[in-house]
Amino acid sequence: MKFSKRILNIQPSATLSISGKAKTMKAEGKPVISFSAGEPDFNSPKSAREAGIDAINRGESHYTLNPGIIELRQEVCSYYKRRFGLDYTPAEVIIAPGAKPLLYEALQALVDEGDEVILFAPAWVSYVEQLHMAGGVEKVVDTIATGLLPTRESLLAAIGPKTVGLILNSPSNPTGAIYPEETMKMIAEVAKEKDLWIIFDEIYERFAYAPAKHVNILNVAPEIKDRVLIINGVSKAYAMTGWRIGYALGPKEIIAKMSTLQTHLTSNACSIAQWAACGAVKEADADVDAMRDEFAKRRRVIVDLIREMPYVSVKEPEGAFYVFVDIRKCPIPDDMEFCERLLNEKYVAAVPGTAFFAPGFLRLSYACSMENIKEGMARMKEFLEGLK
Ligand code: PLP
Repeated sequence: MKFSKRILNIQPSATLSISGKAKTMKAEGKPVISFSAGEPDFNSPKSAREAGIDAINRGESHYTLNPGIIELRQEVCSYYKRRFGLDYTPAEVIIAPGAKPLLYEALQALVDEGDEVILFAPAWVSYVEQLHMAGGVEKVVDTIATGLLPTRESLLAAIGPKTVGLILNSPSNPTGAIYPEETMKMIAEVAKEKDLWIIFDEIYERFAYAPAKHVNILNVAPEIKDRVLIINGVSKAYAMTGWRIGYALGPKEIIAKMSTLQTHLTSNACSIAQWAACGAVKEADADVDAMRDEFAKRRRVIVDLIREMPYVSVKEPEGAFYVFVDIRKCPIPDDMEFCERLLNEKYVAAVPGTAFFAPGFLRLSYACSMENIKEGMARMKEFLEGLK
């Protein structure tokens, strides 16, 4: 069978394939503990579940407005006003089945064949693949040697005549780094100077662990509002990954273009899920804070346990729910081989850093029970101690 060059060029998501392998092994009866999933292990908040059930009972089972029900877009505007003091109107908001399709739509709207987009590595797996689907080329700014943050020099060095924009993700998946105000300011200045747009993916914004604080780029650089597209959604903050609701906020021109694409792609996000998301965004602040506090405890435990292991090191993650472990000094510095052996020999699933442009590292998600964290880390320690 002949397939298009386009599809043959796409690499499957490494995070989904490792969690798939872990699930299969578990189904075979192996005692697998998985640190590979990028999703909270909590149930969705009651306000979301009830709003979803009400919507079903009311018969909200039809196509909705293509960019999303007005009620949810209004709710998202109110949220951005109360959380960040930012003013958006429903015409500047679009709802899609998850943040992932919004990133796809944005890149389709902004990137021409051969255009370059800056990615800060380690970078989330889907950015580069979605960029390729738009015909774009990645310019990777590696941040490993500079404390997981880009510098003005490294950013400027990556910008050329074909660079049209950059993707900024804070708190970061996979590193858990939170970009401080100075770095945000620097990026905003460069974007303005070089006429770049910014896709600002803040899907983990609710998971920042004190004293670290999440900053929205428009709070430090309000003057660049016309070149920023914010990506967010209910998946991570409200433990609603399966409902598939994401939202983007930005200049109404780009929102309209994304909406046009959406008319031919998904039509709209699931009507019931949009109503459930309304319930979450409106009323689930306390649930989110409780989840964050639980993640904070797990983060402390997992980081401390990793620091007792030989060969490996970890920079304190400040946000999201990932730890990024440096295995470059291990007897097996190859992260692909390391993850393969850790899964086969100790039944512990982790994601190799190679998936994020960071060979020699691995990502562990601590969105799993404390009991699994303790058992999984004990096995990983045993694995490392057994290496020569
Ligand atoms: N952006 C980042 C950085 C993510 O980690 C993820 C999910 O893993 C997404 C976007 C996509 O989220 P959604 O489930 O809403 O599509």
